[in-house]
Amino acid sequence: MTELWIATGNAKKRAELERLLGPLGITIRTPHDLRERSSEYDPIEDQPDFAGNARVKATALARLCDGTTLADDSGLCVDALDGRPGVHSARYGGPGLDDAGRVDRLLAELAEQPDRPRTARFVCSLCVCDARGDVLAAIEETCEGTLLTAPSGAGGFGYDPIFVAHDLRDEPVRSFAELPAAEKDRISHRGKALRRLAAELPALLARDAGR
Ligand code: IMP
Repeated sequence: MTELWIATGNAKKRAELERLLGPLGITIRTPHDLRERSSEYDPIEDQPDFAGNARVKATALARLCDGTTLADDSGLCVDALDGRPGVHSARYGGPGLDDAGRVDRLLAELAEQPDRPRTARFVCSLCVCDARGDVLAAIEETCEGTLLTAPSGAGGFGYDPIFVAHDLRDEPVRSFAELPAAEKDRISHRGKALRRLAAELPALLARDAGR
């Protein structure tokens, strides 16, 4: 069975990646599997865009695990906030906030912009690296939507409770946090990016294993 190292410490994001990659018969490894060396995986996400940060994460893990790696860098870009939180989505508002705190902070900022549209997009940038740290594939997808004025739903993670995808705009309002997992995967930035990657991944893994 082929192995793929996933460069993420976010358990919910990892669950989405495993759900989408599982059917390909790939064994997922994570930095945790590096055991005593796992603390050495500490990439500095200092790039100005998602693709750059995905590359930083994938190459940093490749150096440690000597295998093929996949990194996801993602976030929410809000038009009324000139694209924030963007690449800072995970830590928006500082280290003291949890997901609910970041959502509240975002809603408070949006409330100060009552005349601007509440449109936003999730972005997912994927990067696959070979064992030498060379980039094998880079894919980016988005999911357009509108932000609610208050959180709704208990599923998902991050900004899911306030995001309503435009793909569902003809239906009764449901945030990403109210969707069954398969429905989010069908329309989400990560689902779309992973489906594109899934088409290429078996060939990439076979090529990397043959080196
Ligand atoms: P990363 O781990 O540095 O890529 O940060 C990703 C952050 O973006 C997460 O911690 C969430 O705050 C946000 N995010 C990315 N994808 C999603 C999603 O599918 N739903 C909700 N929030 C997301």
